[in-house]
Amino acid sequence: MKTYSIFVSYRLVASGDLKTVLSAAKALVDAQSAPGGESENFLIFEHATGRQVDFDLRGSLEDVLARELPSTDAAPTDGAPSDGAPAAKTGKGRPKLGVVSAEVTLLPRHWEWLAAQPTRASGTIRRLVEEARVKEGTDPKRRAEALGNLLWCLGGDLNDFENATRALYALDTGRLFSITDQWPGDLPSFVRNWFSPAPPRNVPVQSLAVHTDPTLDPTLALMEDLFRDAPRQGPGEGAQTARALELAAAAGARLGPDSRIADLGCGTGAQTLELARLTGADIVAVDILPSFLERLEEGARKLGARVRPLQASMGALPFSDGEFDALWAEGSVYNMGFREGLSAWRRFLKKGGILCVSELTWFGESRPAEAEAYWGREYPGIDTAAAKLKIAEECGYVPAGYFPLPSRCWTEGYYRPLEGLIDPFLARHDGSAAARRIAEGLREEMEVYDRFGDFYGYGFYVLIKR
Ligand code: SAH
Repeated sequence: MKTYSIFVSYRLVASGDLKTVLSAAKALVDAQSAPGGESENFLIFEHATGRQVDFDLRGSLEDVLARELPSTDAAPTDGAPSDGAPAAKTGKGRPKLGVVSAEVTLLPRHWEWLAAQPTRASGTIRRLVEEARVKEGTDPKRRAEALGNLLWCLGGDLNDFENATRALYALDTGRLFSITDQWPGDLPSFVRNWFSPAPPRNVPVQSLAVHTDPTLDPTLALMEDLFRDAPRQGPGEGAQTARALELAAAAGARLGPDSRIADLGCGTGAQTLELARLTGADIVAVDILPSFLERLEEGARKLGARVRPLQASMGALPFSDGEFDALWAEGSVYNMGFREGLSAWRRFLKKGGILCVSELTWFGESRPAEAEAYWGREYPGIDTAAAKLKIAEECGYVPAGYFPLPSRCWTEGYYRPLEGLIDPFLARHDGSAAARRIAEGLREEMEVYDRFGDFYGYGFYVLIKR
C-alpha cells in the first residue's frame, strides 16, 4: 500500500492510503470554503519519496476519487491465466487489474532463468518488482532520505534542523529523536513512527481544528487513559438525548430503523447506545480515540445495536453528501468550533435532516467576571443561545429546538464519576507532569462549575438542514 500524510503546519491531519488521504484532503478543502471556514493550507506527502504531491480536488469526493485513484488497487497474482495477454489493456483478459502488456528485451540468460521459474515470465517479473519495491520501502537509507525531503518541505526553520538532518542521514536515530522530540505539533511522534516497523494504518489522526482544545495534543494518550473508564466523556444524560429526538420528531424528522445517523465525537458511546435503543437506526459512531471505540463496540454488542465504530477525525470525515438523516454531536463540536463543525458537516445531511449538538452556552446576558475570564481562556467560543442559534442559521440550518442541560448532567453524570478516577490515574502516571496538569485543569474546571454553574452549561441545539 502506498502511504500518504497530510500536514497542516506541523499538525498531522491524516495518514493512510490514497483513498483515505484524498477523502481527508477533500474534507479540508470543503471546510475551508464553507462559510466561516478557516483557510489553513495543507500539504500532502507521499511516504515513499517524502515528496509533496498535489491532487486535483475539484468537484465532489466521488469526482476526486474517480480522477485520482488508479483504476485498481489490486495487484495481479502470479501465474494467472491471462498473463501477458496482449489484449489485456483493451478490455479483454483482466482489465480491472490494470495489467498492461509491453515488450521486454532481455539477454538469453535472463530468458533461460525466467523459463526455469515455476511461474510464467510475467508473474515472475511482477514478483521480482514487488520484492524490490518492498526492499526499497524498508531500506533505511531510502527511508531517511524520504523523511529528509518531507521535513525540508515542512519547514527548514525548525530548531536545530541541520543537526537533525545530519543525524537522520547518519541513521543515528537516538540523536535525531533528541532533537525532533523538541519540535512542535505532531513532528516528534511522526519522526519516531517513521522508523518504527508498525504497518501503516488508515487513520485520519487529528481534526482540522483540534488545536482549539489544547488538551487534545501531546496529552491525548493521557486523556484517553483518564476518560476511558468514565460513564461519559462529557456532560449529558439519556433523557436529554431522548428529549432532542422528540423535538426533532415534532419538527418532522422522526428517526427510526430505516434512518442513518452519524454520532460525531461519540466517546465511549453513552448517547450512541441510547440513540440505538430509541430509534433502532443504523449508526456510524466516530471518534479519534480507539480505546473509546472499543468500549462502545462492547456495549453495542451486548445491546445487539447496529453501530459501526469508525476511527476518524470529525474535521476530515470520509462520508458522502446527503448520506445521513441525522448527525449527533454531544459535547464534542468544541473540538472544531461550533461554526466550523456546523458548516463542515452540513453536506453529509439529507435535505431536512437534523443536526443535534450540545455546546457550551452562557445562560444569560451577564455573568461574573471570573467565570467570563476562565471560559474566555478555556473556550473562547462560549456564547449565549441567541448567538449560537444565529450562527446555526448562518450555516444553513433552521432551529427546531433548544434546551439547556440540567446541572445534574454535569455534577452527577460527569464530574462525580471523574473525581473517583483522578487519583488512580495520577498513581498510574506517577511523576508525570502532563498527568498532573490534566488533573489540576480538571479540578479547576470542576471548581469553576461549582461556583458559577448557574451562569453557563451545555445548550442542546436541534437544527434542521435547510
Ligand atoms: N459524546 C460523548 C463524548 C464527548 S467528549 C459524550 O457526551 O459522552 C468529546 C469526544 O470527542 C471525545 O471522545 C474525544 O475523543 C472526541 N474527539 C476529540 N477530537 C476529535 C476529533 N478531532 N475527531 C473525532 N473525535 C474527536
